[in-house]
Amino acid sequence: MEKQLLGALEAGGTKMVCATGYADGTIVETAEFPTTTPEETMALVVDWFKQRSIAALGIGAFGPTAVNPSSPHYGHILETPKTAWRFFDMLGSLQNELNVPCGYDTDVNVACLGEHAFGCAQGLDNVVYLTIGTGVGAGVMVGGQLIHGMLHPEAGHILVVRDPADTIGDDSACPYHSNCLEGLIAGPAVKKRWGGKRASELAEDPAAMDLLAGYLAQALMTYILCYAPQRIVIGGGVADHTPVVALARKKAAELLNGYLVTPELEDIDSYIVNNSLEGKQGIMGCLALGAQALAQ
Ligand code: ZN
Repeated sequence: MEKQLLGALEAGGTKMVCATGYADGTIVETAEFPTTTPEETMALVVDWFKQRSIAALGIGAFGPTAVNPSSPHYGHILETPKTAWRFFDMLGSLQNELNVPCGYDTDVNVACLGEHAFGCAQGLDNVVYLTIGTGVGAGVMVGGQLIHGMLHPEAGHILVVRDPADTIGDDSACPYHSNCLEGLIAGPAVKKRWGGKRASELAEDPAAMDLLAGYLAQALMTYILCYAPQRIVIGGGVADHTPVVALARKKAAELLNGYLVTPELEDIDSYIVNNSLEGKQGIMGCLALGAQALAQ
């Protein structure tokens, strides 16, 4: 196939990251626009791509969103606290304006795809990608396919058992669940519990890291048991700027308590890992998704 210029759009809750590049993951150019209202934001995004004559576009959108092509709401943002975006037809509006083949998935599913296509999950068909930042999200690939079912996995909101030492209070930082992973370890939970501090400021605080790693380890055990991944890749600010992944992998092994014996778990340092693409796994995954859309 000719080396055609592809578009990549990471549509996040706070900013839109646009890029052009190629199917081999090479990024040519990037731009960022703040996520305000659909009218304002999408006009900037569409204009940027229109000036660059892309052959196809890969979109990784914030959720919840409908990623199953058989859904009547395919490509729409669904119920979201960002009310201006509720039921916005993200995919349809971009397809109409740009008139090129578009691939559509969640921001975390495309990050999973990025690690699979170009990063530390190459050659593996069963992968969990977890991001721990302002929220917690999981992209999941099973049998070489990203999961599109009723919706997409929302594995950031699984329940965990409260640590008795936790001082966060009765309510977590998740408005829906008082004991979910996101509500106890994402950025807002860290700020709520530790007087407005960011996770990176607590990286040298053993008690704080121990608490966060304990919750993460519970979730990792659940993902290992339910998805049988061949590797778990973790990104996002809380994971990138603290030792929490290294601590959590040890604790996950303790929780599993020898129940599973596999070569992967015997080499747990290579099994549960930090992301390998320096924060570019999402946008590179969008390029991979755009290449898929072009090939179809
Ligand atoms: Zn929750």
